[in-house]
Order: sequence, then structure tokens, then C-alpha cells
Amino acid sequence: LTAAAASSVRTPLPVLGRDVTVPLVTGGEVTYAALDYAASAPALQRVWDDVAAYAPYYGSVHRGAGYLSQLSTDLFEKARTTVAEFLDCRDGDQVVFTRSTTDSLNLLAAALPAGCQVFVFETEHHASLLPWRNADVTYLDAPRTPEQAVATLERALAEREQGPALVCVTGASNVTGELWPVRELSAAAHAHGARIVLDAAQLAPHHPVSVRELDVDWVAFSGHKLYAPFGTGVLAGRADWLRAAEPYLAGGGASRKVARRADGGVDVEWHDSAARHEAGSPNVIGAHAVASACKALAEEGFDRLVARERYLIRKVREGLAEVPEVRVLSLFGDDAPRVGVISFVVEGWNSSHLAAALSAEYGIGVRDGLFCAHPLVRTLLGSEPQIQGECGAPEAAPGEKSLNAIRVSFGAGTPDEHVERFVGAVK
Ligand code: PMP
Repeated sequence: LTAAAASSVRTPLPVLGRDVTVPLVTGGEVTYAALDYAASAPALQRVWDDVAAYAPYYGSVHRGAGYLSQLSTDLFEKARTTVAEFLDCRDGDQVVFTRSTTDSLNLLAAALPAGCQVFVFETEHHASLLPWRNADVTYLDAPRTPEQAVATLERALAEREQGPALVCVTGASNVTGELWPVRELSAAAHAHGARIVLDAAQLAPHHPVSVRELDVDWVAFSGHKLYAPFGTGVLAGRADWLRAAEPYLAGGGASRKVARRADGGVDVEWHDSAARHEAGSPNVIGAHAVASACKALAEEGFDRLVARERYLIRKVREGLAEVPEVRVLSLFGDDAPRVGVISFVVEGWNSSHLAAALSAEYGIGVRDGLFCAHPLVRTLLGSEPQIQGECGAPEAAPGEKSLNAIRVSFGAGTPDEHVERFVGAVK
């Protein structure tokens, strides 16, 4: 640890909802322990304050002549620059504001050049797994080590036909929290003439993401997992495929010139900039909030954030290790580096019942189910999992395999007490 990181290990960043109390079935109430950051992290207090400070001044973006419109337009475009800096983008890269990671990856899927082959591991979150279904997609088997991931990709790319290709890979798993070998995978992709898009939904809130260093062609992430409110995502990276594609949304703002043709049709000239894919009135507050979160994390410094998170991970892992029935889910092995996302099962118990009890009896919010990564959870549990969200899942008998899992996840703003309460409750 650096000196700064060591001194910050016990200092959570202020987030919203720290003082929210919830009732317990056992009587009384308790402050809510939000341990579902991987789904949506609480917004940073500072992000909320930044949005509130701007709120009285907001006006239409790009099309208004008034002072507040100019202010909003300026803020929206500055947000792009802030995000580009946060991601360490290359000159000429575009930052497109979308609704979410899911939206960003669907945008890229809609912008694939003709005949593009796509390669994706079956272990991906559904947002990275499913948008390519209309393309020529190869699903790669779950690797059991990072080296195997690289070798599997190398083999698949070596066998591919000529033509454009895209690899889609997640930086940190939303199920195991494990880090994927992004740099090595991007080197493999590029060595075989393929492009690569990084799903950084779980990576960006926990680790610095440098487009340059990781040498990825695009990055996608969601504001609501990066301590900003819901509704805004980002797709950042190479301009060429985006510029050559039909607009993701057709409408005002994406078009430079529209005119009736002599034959009665309509001719459109589309913008070449990010606006090409952002038709309609843009979400300036959302973009401002994401930019504010990027600034806050950069100023806090990822060495401090990572140090604090490692400390919390250790606390949870050591606590869970004291319960013999607990099995932590892992693809790459117990010692694999990971972010603050930990899924586990308690042998002989139904995970949904345990998650409900954590909420009702301890005021702890975790997630149970299959985490929108059905093939991965199936591999990790070694059984056919229960469909997510289904009530009354049959209880696994002692010794039987669990049918779904519990996920605990945390990050900036998580106090020690939340993870201590969680570990105590599981025990
Ligand atoms: N990728 C990963 C790895 C995720 O964890 C998630 C959200 N759980 C997504 C993509 C999708 O993010 P969003 O729901 O914000 O589109």
C-alpha cells in the first residue's frame, strides 16, 4: 500500500442513503446496509450535489439560443471530455452517451460492419452475451484460468475466416468479481486482426480503465454502477465503425441535413460525430452526473479506492471462510484477483430464503438468483439453476447442490459495519 492508500483504508466516500433506516421483522429498525453495488451503487453525495447545483439552470441542449441552453450544451459537451479523460481515450475516439451498458453494446452490435464475426465467452453477462445474436457469433467455452481464456480466444481467432471481427469481453465478472486478462485478450484480438470491446460495467467503478493501456477498441459502462444515478451509459472508442454505421436512433440531432427528393422520398445527411447515435433530446443531467462521478473517483484516486476495497474483500472472505457450509463461487480459483463482488452458496440452503432473511432480520440488501449470467452460474453451480426471480424455489436438501446463489457487493462508501453485520448474519 502507498502511504495515502494505507491511511484511507478506513475512510469510506460519502454516498446517498447512509442514514436510511428499515424495519426488521424481529421488531425495531436498523440502518440499511446496501450490499448490492454490482446491481446499482448508491450515488456519491458529491454527484447529487453537482446535479442539484446545476438543476436551476438547465435548459434545452444544442438547439436553444438562450443563455441556459448554451450552458447546458457546454455542460453536455464537457461531460464527454471528462469521460474521455477518465477512460484515457485516444485522440479521435468518440464518447457516445447511451442509456446503459446494455444500450451501449446493442449500439455497437447495430454498427458492426457487414460480415463481421463476433467472439464472446459464454460466461458473459447477458448484456455482453446477447446483443450479437443477429451476427455471425461464436460462443467460447468457459475458461478455468485467465491463461486458458487467452488460449481459447487465440484458437478461435486463428480458425476464423478473413474479414472484420469483434471480441467482446468483460473486465470484471458481475458474478465472481474476478478480473479478466483484458490486456492479453486485446493483444490476441489485435494479433488476429480483430477488434475488441470491453464491458467495463463492473470494472470501471473499482479500477482505473485506460483505453490506451488496455488497448481496447471500445469501452462500455453504466453510470448507475459508477456512483451516478440511473439512466446514462457510455460507449467510447474508435470512431470509424460508428461513423460508417446507420444511426442507432434516427431523428433530430443525429441528422445534419434532411430534404425531400424529387421522387418524393427523403434524403438525410447524418452527423459524423457521436451525435449520429444520440438522436432526440439528450440526457444532459445524466451526462453531467456521470462526468461528476468520473471526476470524484479520479480525485479520490483508484489506489485509495482499491486499497479500501481489498480490505473489505478480505473481511468478507475471512468471515465466510469460517462457515464450513459456505462455498464461494469462482471460475479462476480462490486466489484470483477480484473486485468487491462475491457470490456464494450455503450448502443445503435455498439462497433466496437466505437473502430474504438477511433483509428482513438484519436490514442487509444483497442479491440472489443467477445475476443475468445463466450459463456462467450453471457452470459454477454444476447444476441446472433455478430461473431467476421465481418464488418458492425448492430447497436443496442437505448435501444437494444449490439452485441459485447469493451475491454480496460493495465499494466506495461501504462502512466496515455493513460487511461486519453481513458476515455475522451469515454465521
Ligand atoms: N455487464 C455487466 C458485467 C453487468 O454487471 C451489467 C449489470 N449487471 C451489465 C453489463 C448491464 O448493465 P446495465 O443494466 O446498466 O445495462
